[in-house]
Amino acid sequence: MATKTVASSTASTDEVDLEPLRALLSGSLALPGEPGYELATPWNVAVPVLPLVVVLPESAEDIAAAVRFAGTAGLRVAVTRTGHGAIPLDAAAGSDVLLVHTGRLDECTVHVDERWARVGAGVIWQQVIDGATPHGLAPLAGSAPGVGVVGFLTGGGLGPLVRTYGVSSDHVRAFDVVTGDGQIRRATPTEHPELFWGLRGGKSTLGIVTAVEIDLLPLASIYGGALYFDGADAPAVVHAWQRWTAGLPESANSSLAILQLPPLPQVPPPLAGRLTVAVRFAFAGDPDAGALTLEPMRQVATPLIDMVAPMPYTAIGAIHADPVDPTPTHEAATLLADFPAEAAEALLAVAGPGAGSRQTIVELRHLGGALGRAPQQSSAFCQRNARFSMLAIGVLAPPEADAVAADGVALVAALAPWSTGRALANFAPSSDPERVALSYDEETLRRLGALAEQYDPTGVLRIGQVVRGAGPVG
Ligand SMILES: Cc1cc2nc3c(=O)[nH]c(=O)nc-3n(C[C@H](O)[C@H](O)[C@H](O)COP(=O)(O)OP(=O)(O)OC[C@H]3O[C@@H](n4cnc5c(N)ncnc54)[C@H](O)[C@@H]3O)c2cc1C
Repeated sequence: MATKTVASSTASTDEVDLEPLRALLSGSLALPGEPGYELATPWNVAVPVLPLVVVLPESAEDIAAAVRFAGTAGLRVAVTRTGHGAIPLDAAAGSDVLLVHTGRLDECTVHVDERWARVGAGVIWQQVIDGATPHGLAPLAGSAPGVGVVGFLTGGGLGPLVRTYGVSSDHVRAFDVVTGDGQIRRATPTEHPELFWGLRGGKSTLGIVTAVEIDLLPLASIYGGALYFDGADAPAVVHAWQRWTAGLPESANSSLAILQLPPLPQVPPPLAGRLTVAVRFAFAGDPDAGALTLEPMRQVATPLIDMVAPMPYTAIGAIHADPVDPTPTHEAATLLADFPAEAAEALLAVAGPGAGSRQTIVELRHLGGALGRAPQQSSAFCQRNARFSMLAIGVLAPPEADAVAADGVALVAALAPWSTGRALANFAPSSDPERVALSYDEETLRRLGALAEQYDPTGVLRIGQVVRGAGPVG
């Protein structure tokens, strides 16, 4: 018999018999030590994720069965796909948690003529890119094609073309979702519009999404890539980028990254084991116009590598070249209302040459443009007024691991004078109530919390990066 001792006071029993749930599933479940339990280990391998059991559904009905079972047994249900946004769940905290891993929900159907795709909750962006691009169509993916589509979209989702096309979740047409009461529901602008509103930005507060339907853009290629400069040129590059971004049209998207990449085989030798600066660029339009727009940055210094060129949309991940393999990372993030010359100086003082920063990537994304416009359908994504996003990613590897988090705090503090005081739900994820609240305005927090009480009256989904009642849960 598959039983597990439950330590948490949340559960109604000390000993939970999971065999009835196993029998209900067309998919499967895995207890610690059983094949499949290893899927709880997230992409961010620094984060412990140790649930009571991993549920591997093969259908929305399986997820509904798991949620109903949990409700009856006094357990809670969390959801994951890749673990790019993992939140700690140690053995004690996870002892009453069923973790739904959506990997088997892998439908990806492209409707070429109508330019949309139906995407299962287990699909990562690369699969949608692979399905759509042969037809000259493109999903509004994020910087890393290995990220899960649903995890990204429920946080809003800002990709490399955000200034041109806006928040990716504004391009969602429908969700299929299992709410905390164990019901399967469809959320569109006209069916359960309140869920449709809250699932775009509210992460898993209102349910476990089983499939999403998204617009595809008629975009076969862009002019994009990155210029990589020597660290010694960082002051000139950062200041030039600060001035240059102030005048960019919406068709031009850019981010700047101060990099300290490790000497690994997958890192190009000119970039390995030293400080460099990348100017990433994504231009949706005529390549010659793109080249003309980028020219001032090409003139700042001689790039170590210049890989900006017309590129097929399939190569979108090469613009940021984010780490692909599971990595132990620490994220620190903030949003900026502005990035004047003084802010550029402050950034260089903590992350530039000689600053002693132990961050692997310190990235500034230029926002604004289409991001700032109100969407056709309002949503729980609240950070449209931000002009820049700072995300620092440190690798928690010895001997510097202990200093990485402190460096992140120092970076956020250095940029505090220009901060909006808010945060993106997708960056530096946390279940800390104060941190969760930073992603929403007061009215959105209240509305999300009230909807959560309505659709999940027993609190089955009350775990992780969610909002409940008068505010986020502890
Ligand atoms: C290298 C890297 C690059 C990134 N680039 C970008 C970027 O360009 N733009 C951006 O906006 N974000 C970006 N992110 C953040 C990323 O979008 C979030 O971490 C996202 O939550 C990852 O989703 P996942 O399913 O892959 O990860 P997971 O860790 O498995 O899931 C994270 C969270 O997403 C929610 N979630 C996942 N599946 C479901 C579901 N079926 N139903 C409801 N909620 C669900 C849950 O709250 C879950 O805790 C990046 C992260 C990394 C590590």
